[in-house]
Amino acid sequence: MSGGMQNSTAVLILLGPPGAGKGTQARMLQERFGLVQLSTGDLLRAAVAAGTPAGLAAKAVMEAGGLVSDEIVLEVLKDRLGDPDVARGVILDGFPRTRAQAEALDALLAEAGQKVTAAISLEVDDEAMVGRVSGRYTCAGCGEGYHDEFKQPAKAGVCDKCGGTAFTRRADDTAETVRARLEAYHAQTAPLIAHYKMMGVLESVDAMGSIDTIASALGSIVGRVSA
Ligand code: AMP
Repeated sequence: MSGGMQNSTAVLILLGPPGAGKGTQARMLQERFGLVQLSTGDLLRAAVAAGTPAGLAAKAVMEAGGLVSDEIVLEVLKDRLGDPDVARGVILDGFPRTRAQAEALDALLAEAGQKVTAAISLEVDDEAMVGRVSGRYTCAGCGEGYHDEFKQPAKAGVCDKCGGTAFTRRADDTAETVRARLEAYHAQTAPLIAHYKMMGVLESVDAMGSIDTIASALGSIVGRVSA
């Protein structure tokens, strides 16, 4: 078992296509419940930026909107799970994305007599996802997410959270790449909903509403399952 996990650690999974709001909601749950957001997309982007062997191998696949190999994803994830802060409980955002990843996670947790606490499926319409993803950007200082249409900072060009004035857009947040990412989601990730249903840990929320409405639905679920 990776060092940071303990047998009381809550393990929550957010499932949903790109644009469903996994990252936004994971950050909100992190603040509200003191859990740790763990995004394999963020870990991989950091590996790409640092030029590590995992990053070099992942870069082209990510740019094309495909799925990075299970081996590389598990390597970066296991590395992060060894950090002591994860003992507070984790929200997995963007992992697992394949059956092999889900099985590897189950095995990793079983070593500590643990299992997934809840897998929460964010239910959305694909067509709306292209618009949600194409307009998004992030504060370069603190990582707070924004959107051209749905979530502007209170003062234009200034981050609400940290006052930063530099923002970034992901290279893979283009209309064409979103289509490839949606396809990968339906082909490889959506089948995991049945996996978690079988395990008796599946929860679903309607994720087409406002950010706050979705946050409150998720908050009730997390409050209940981690009590
Ligand atoms: P995300 O930030 O979750 O949208 O992930 C961005 C990109 O990183 C994805 O389009 C994939 O190329 C890659 N990626 C992130 N997480 C995974 C994963 N669990 N399995 C495979 N590829 C992943």
